[in-house]
Parts: sequence; structure tokens; C-alpha cells
Amino acid sequence: MGSARSIKAPEGTRDLLPDEAAYWRNFQKVAIEVFGRYGYQPIDTPIFEQTDLFVRGIGEATDVVSKEMYTAISGGNLRQLLAGEPLRTNARLSLRPEGTAGVVRAVVQHDLVPQGAAPVKLMYAGPMFRAERAQKGRQRQFNQIGVECLGADAPSIDAEAIVMLMRFFAEIGIRPSSMRLLLNSMGCENCRPAYRGKVRAFLDEHNGELCETCRARKETNPLRAFDCKEPGCAEVMAHAPHITDYLCDDCREHYNLVKELLDAAHVFYEEDPTLVRGLDYYTRTVFEVQVIDGLGSQNAIGGGGRYDKLAEEVGGRPTAGLGFALGYERCVLALQAQGFEFAPVQSCDVFVACVDESLRHEAFGLVQLCRDSGFKAEMDHQGRSLKSQFKLADKLGAARVAILGPDEWATGQVKLRDMGTHTEILVSASDLPNALSRALL
Ligand SMILES: [Zn+2]
Ligand SMILES: [Zn+2]
Repeated sequence: MGSARSIKAPEGTRDLLPDEAAYWRNFQKVAIEVFGRYGYQPIDTPIFEQTDLFVRGIGEATDVVSKEMYTAISGGNLRQLLAGEPLRTNARLSLRPEGTAGVVRAVVQHDLVPQGAAPVKLMYAGPMFRAERAQKGRQRQFNQIGVECLGADAPSIDAEAIVMLMRFFAEIGIRPSSMRLLLNSMGCENCRPAYRGKVRAFLDEHNGELCETCRARKETNPLRAFDCKEPGCAEVMAHAPHITDYLCDDCREHYNLVKELLDAAHVFYEEDPTLVRGLDYYTRTVFEVQVIDGLGSQNAIGGGGRYDKLAEEVGGRPTAGLGFALGYERCVLALQAQGFEFAPVQSCDVFVACVDESLRHEAFGLVQLCRDSGFKAEMDHQGRSLKSQFKLADKLGAARVAILGPDEWATGQVKLRDMGTHTEILVSASDLPNALSRALL
């Protein structure tokens, strides 16, 4: 053994150390509480699915599916593949690059919205995986919280979800004045194809000014040119046709109602006809929340939209849907830009110290009594002197120290010291949990 090379976390991943891990759990708790007020209930789906689900659901031409998925062949099947035997499509698995496809798959599989039923409202939280170049605000494993509502196409579902998303950001402490809510409609299967054709023709006219990527994806996914960061492409796209000029009457009516409802709820938005989002499945409403500073080019902290065709793509009956996802890491960066720091985890209510070794077993029993009564309790495990035990109690942030000395213990008592005021009282050992309740609550 000896000098083994130290192994670090893979590039694009990071450890959430205790202060942050506690914050991430609290972040999820706030989401469950806020979204619960709007009727959303938690669902947990696997972190890997059949690759085919993402190919059909998200779209083969998207960057997410064509370049960024972690795809694997399960062990036994790899031998089959190497032997040249045909592989069943269900042997190909991918780590989920986003949460919507899996939730919609679960809704279809378990028939969670039978015909005529009220819409089902679901929320999820957990890691997503994309094989991207790691940079600030962009990880290969990152945490998202998202919601999906299936079974209703009413504009009030869209508006309600947007109101709820803005409410969540406010409750975790992102300053409303530092956020921009962008809104657009992507049209539907009746009006989008014609628009897509218009954009393709427009790109053809400007072929020479486009970057290689935009030229390559012009046929399969022309709308992605709106997201291109190349200055030349951005200049061209500033004059591209806007979807909002090509919406059919139904889509226009739907979009207008979403805006009226947001107005009624006093949620401010900016219409952005160039907002197309990277995924193929969106129809009608799309939205994105950006923070104005602190995140550079990765400034979107959340977004989503309507996907009325997705359930059919994964084999279900036609079911309208809408959802959004928000990025935990990006929210933290936005909060840190406002001066936020993780609060240290308070790990100790009471520290049980012994004056000498002879009472170590009794101290051990007393620590368990405190823990069983719901207190965070700790003792020394390294044979420290009484003075060092006090230092440790201080370091752990203990509000009280229970001191076991031979004289007090002889009468079944311990000293309870207030670490703030340094005052001490004598309490009966069996009554220590009650004394702590009185002192700490
Ligand atoms: Zn339409
Ligand atoms: Zn480009």
C-alpha cells in the first residue's frame, strides 16, 4: 500500500459537504411545502431509463440526446453485443438527462390520469446527468427540482405553474428584482411546422453568416439557432421571423389567456419571441427565469413549458402536459451572488462530560437517554481531559454541558452548565431530558 494515488470526484461532479447537504434537503423541503399548496405531490422515478424513452421523448436531434447522454449497455448484454448478437432496445439504458420524460413515462405506465379524471400534479427532486464540458453553473451531475401536470390543457395550469415557480424563488430568498421571467408560445403541430419552415428558409438566405453548428442543424432543428451564442449567428437571428406572428387562432387565444392570468396574479413577465428552449417536446407556452447578475452566460435558474404531444410519443393516449425544472446549483450561485452563505449545521444540544474515567459508562448511558428524548447529544470518544471536553463542547456549539462528577453522581445528580452564561444548576440524572426541554425550548 503506502503511496497510492489519491482519487478525486469525477470532473463535473461535486460533493455536497454537511452544511450544504443540509441546505439541499431544506431546499427540497421548501419546494415540497410551496408546491404542495398548489396540489403537487412528490414522485420518485429511476435515475436511469431505457435510452429509447429519451430518444422518443426529448428528440434525437437535440444536443441533450445526441451528444450529452450517459448511455450504457448492461453487463450481460455487452457480451451479447461483442459476440455480434442483436441487442434488444430495452438493454440500452441511459442516465436521465432531465426529469420530465421519466415522470411522463410513469404517468402513462400507471395510468395516473384515466380519461375524465382531474389532472395529476407531480413534483420530483434529484440528480440529472449530462456529459457536457464542465464550467461554472454547468455540471455533469446536477440537482433539479421539477413539476409536471398532466391531463389538462387549460391556460390556468400554465399560469398557475409560473406563479408557483416565482413564489418558490422568492421563498428561498432570491430577490425578485434580480430575476427576469421570459415568456413565449411555441405554437402547436398545426402552426409550428410552417414557422419552422420559415426559419429554415431564413437560415438558408443567411447561410454564409452562420456558424458551422447552426449550418449543420439547420435541417433537423433550425430553431436552435436562436440559442446560439456565436456573435455572427446572434446578429442574424435578431432579424429572424417570430413564432408569435405565425400562431394559429387557438394558440394565440391560449397564449393571451396565460398572459391575462399572470397579469391578474401580478406576476411580471417579458415576452421574448426568441425563447425556444432546447428540447423538441414543447408546444405552446414556454418560459424561463433568468437572474440578472452573478451567473454569466449560464443565467437561467429555471424554466419549462407545455408538452401536449409527449405522452403520445412515449406510447400513451393523448394527454396534455406542462412542467418546469429549476436548477439547484444555479439557485445557490444566484443566492451566493447576493451574499448568501450556508449556515453551519448545529450538531449538538448537549455535551455530556465526565470529571474522570470512572463515570464513562454512566456518561454513555446518559447520552443515549438525551438522544432518545430527541436531543442532539455527544460525548468524548478519545479520553480527553475535562478541560479538553469543554473545548470540544464549545466547538460543537453545545448550548449545555452535563457534567458527571463522582460527588454529584453519588446522589444521582449531574451539573448542567449553560455555555452562554456559565451558570450551573444541579439536576437529577433521570430528569436531565426534562431540564433540557425547559432550558432549550
Ligand atoms: Zn397552433
Ligand atoms: Zn450558430
